[in-house]
Amino acid sequence: MLDVCVDNYGITVDNKGKKLYLDPNRQPNSDLIFISHAHTDHLYKCVKENGNRIITSKITHKIAMHRGYKYGETFEEHGFELLNSGHILGSNGLLIEDQLYYTGDISIRKRAFMDAAVVPKAKILIIESTFGHPDYFFPNFESTIHKANLIISEMYHRGIPVILLGYTLGKAQILTNVFRHWKPLIVHDSIDEMNKLYSEFGVSMDNYVTFSDAERSDMLSSHQPWLLIAPISSCKNGFLKYIKKKYGAISIGFSGWAVKPYYKYALGLDHCLPLSDHCDYNDLISVVKKCNPEKIYTFHGFAESFAENLNLLGFDADPLIRKSGKRNKTMVKLDTFFIKSNP
Ligand SMILES: [Zn+2]
Ligand SMILES: [Zn+2]
Repeated sequence: MLDVCVDNYGITVDNKGKKLYLDPNRQPNSDLIFISHAHTDHLYKCVKENGNRIITSKITHKIAMHRGYKYGETFEEHGFELLNSGHILGSNGLLIEDQLYYTGDISIRKRAFMDAAVVPKAKILIIESTFGHPDYFFPNFESTIHKANLIISEMYHRGIPVILLGYTLGKAQILTNVFRHWKPLIVHDSIDEMNKLYSEFGVSMDNYVTFSDAERSDMLSSHQPWLLIAPISSCKNGFLKYIKKKYGAISIGFSGWAVKPYYKYALGLDHCLPLSDHCDYNDLISVVKKCNPEKIYTFHGFAESFAENLNLLGFDADPLIRKSGKRNKTMVKLDTFFIKSNP
């Protein structure tokens, strides 16, 4: 009997007293840990060596180490399969013995060099619900990029530089790739670091200059417009405020939250376009249908309302939320999980 719950460490799958931690927020005592991808809200600080066996992709391991997380070697567990979750480079969902599937953060849309997630069939589905509300509908990738190109083109005609804003890891690499035809292309130094890691894994990221090189060579104050890719933040943030004031640049933010008009005003951005590395509501429903599970657990964002909507659609869903303190027994039995492991 499997037991899925949320404890002090995050989502835990318990199989006869042996525990598997899914993207724990702090270091659990021992047993198995799955890390879906290298966004910091899915990584935990390793405080001491205590025999944690970490299951993750080589790419996630490498990016995490680069970000200052110290993990031991990655571990392979019998019956565990990592499936591309299409979220950022190296991101994976976890399928255990064709019985339980944990999505991590997931996207089923092809975006530039990112492939869509592979969604398996499974009896239990643990699915993220960041945008699990019907208000969150994302237009297709190409039309959003087209809109951005129109804005950039108009600004270039007027001699105005443009700043594109997105998360440093994942979104910014897609932006670097998709807008590489604009010259000069300048990339914030923190994004350059992540771009280099992507390059190491075969996603070519070149033909740009870093922000510090551009400033040093006075490229920014020339009378030519330019395109800068920078980490998304509020316009009250020192860096953005400085750039906007000094060079009269306009900003375009890229985020799933841009579906809501308040997002643009909250951050003080000039434009905001809905571009996400997550599923929108309909995408999440597609994942559920494809997986065709007997039991669903939702986590992140709209976990409760998404579970309610799934129940209305005839599925059996519960949100995984800490406060419930609820333990969820399922009828699924796993043969190899912790039993035949350790050859
Ligand atoms: Zn993420
Ligand atoms: Zn996340």
